[in-house]
Amino acid sequence: MNPFTLGFWMKILLFKSKMQCIIFKLITGLIIVFVYVLVYQTGGTQHAYLHAMYIPVVLFAVMFGWKGGVFIGLFVSIILGPLMPHDTITGEPQIVINWVFRMFFFVGVGGLVGLIIDMMRKQYQTITEVHSHSRDTGLPNYHKYLMNFDEDEQDTADVSLTVLLTNYEDVVVLIGRQAYADIMKEIYSIVKHNFNDIITIQVDARKFWVEMTQEVFKKQFHTFMGELDSKTFWIDDVPMYIDIAVGVYQQESDASISRIEAFKASEMAALHAKKNKFKYSIYEHDFSVPHVSMERLGALPLAIKNNDLFLEYQPIIDLKTNKVTAFETLVRWRYKGKIIPPLDFIPIAEETRLIDLITEWIVDKVIEDYPKLSTDDSMKVMINVSQRNLYNPALIAKMINTIKKAKLKKQAIGIEMTESTVMLNLSLTRTLLENLREAGIPMAIDDFGKGYSTLSCLFELPIDKIKIDRDFVTYTFDAKGAEALIELIITYAHKLGIEVIAEGVETEAYAQALKDLGCDYGQGFYYAKPMPLDKATKWLKNHNKK
Ligand code: C2E
Ligand code: CA
Ligand code: CA
Repeated sequence: MNPFTLGFWMKILLFKSKMQCIIFKLITGLIIVFVYVLVYQTGGTQHAYLHAMYIPVVLFAVMFGWKGGVFIGLFVSIILGPLMPHDTITGEPQIVINWVFRMFFFVGVGGLVGLIIDMMRKQYQTITEVHSHSRDTGLPNYHKYLMNFDEDEQDTADVSLTVLLTNYEDVVVLIGRQAYADIMKEIYSIVKHNFNDIITIQVDARKFWVEMTQEVFKKQFHTFMGELDSKTFWIDDVPMYIDIAVGVYQQESDASISRIEAFKASEMAALHAKKNKFKYSIYEHDFSVPHVSMERLGALPLAIKNNDLFLEYQPIIDLKTNKVTAFETLVRWRYKGKIIPPLDFIPIAEETRLIDLITEWIVDKVIEDYPKLSTDDSMKVMINVSQRNLYNPALIAKMINTIKKAKLKKQAIGIEMTESTVMLNLSLTRTLLENLREAGIPMAIDDFGKGYSTLSCLFELPIDKIKIDRDFVTYTFDAKGAEALIELIITYAHKLGIEVIAEGVETEAYAQALKDLGCDYGQGFYYAKPMPLDKATKWLKNHNKK
């Protein structure tokens, strides 16, 4: 703690212990005796030394407020009044008006200083109170924990929990923040009631951190989980489903991990539980994956700048003519001597603005590569666009502008976006897609069939193509007779003037079956794997010769 801060002194004044009070009273008493002796020895109240008595008055007022200030003011007035002669050598007493007048000053200064300090103390208390409690729920927050927290303190708590509400967004959208805050309060009371007398704080809108002893944990944890599981939250007589994942970190006896790190570890366990749809997870060392993610996230901006990202192209074939009509571009990352596949860095980039930078980089790169791939006037290159990209109007406008400026062939660069992305906000998506269509950018819905959305909704959008998801294609042909479903989608799409691409075509049999069902295009390992630009160009030349 830094003694040169207001906080340091306020803390002393606010949280004065009994011991502090006794020491303070003793010090003030000693100073009063000292000043009394000083005044007496220097000849009485006729000299200015008596003003030294303001020191204990102010000190006492600071410590004990206005009441203390008034009391000490009166006390020293008496000591330096009737009990002290005007001249100690002759014994001449003071005239009454003299010490009574002085009393007004002592009491006034003591009372005023005390009053000011009382007001400051109250304000500081209000500020810390507001600061250390969540605004929505009024529950103690991280600041509260830090205020009472001492890392060096030998603490008996050796189990840390993170209680994570995993469907926060859905719940808030559905019931609003205020009702959500009520649910948080209910969860808090379940925690409190199960693990009495431990630290529980609301870290942010979706999680609590809880600290307890191993003993309490062993005794209560399963009861707590059972209670959470069976609890129904009611909002206006409507039952709410709250999805909760709990992470547990148990301190090993020889571990020297700090308490904050212990919480972080429990948080990783909670994320692990969320990801695997477990109710709870107990931390294990290989959960440190978020560290890897964070490290990668940190390295990504430089990777974009240094061209450590690169693109591969996978052809899309017209099933009727066997001609290549388009390429899909898929990004990869050269990192620490390894090639990292997109699924290992795109999802973490999608959590931040970095995905916009990546997509911008890809657009520029595709424009540069396009002439080498475009052997045909209608050749297209399709770029994968993330949810965050699509709902960023500035990025979309920039993209349209860049593509326009490049003056490529008509409809040369298209975009793919997943079914879940477009379904997020249909009316907004429609406006965004209209803009893209106006700019002549072909659009395809990726991973079609994965999202269980209503076909009619999707087909209301101004899209050109749908890409039937890889798993869906495989499943359909593996499950006997299920191809009727694909046929239905194809027929329905065609009626609306939308063409169909099948992903994950791995065998000739798939290709033939899809063709028989009337599917327009195929993409998959049967034709070619994604390839770097030079390889893709060579492959294209060979393919065109056939
Ligand atoms: P996606 O858009 O569905 O891409 C198709 C994925 O399936 C690619 O995986 C591709 O290599 C793989 N694939 C293609 N044909 C076959 C096949 O016949 N069999 C099998 N088993 N797999 C096949 P990849 O390159 O690992 O990309 C995975 C996902 O990462 C993509 O799924 C896409 O969602 C994302 N992604 C890739 N590149 C980008 C990008 O540039 N931007 C964004 N936002 N996402 C990207
Ligand atoms: Ca795609
Ligand atoms: Ca796909």
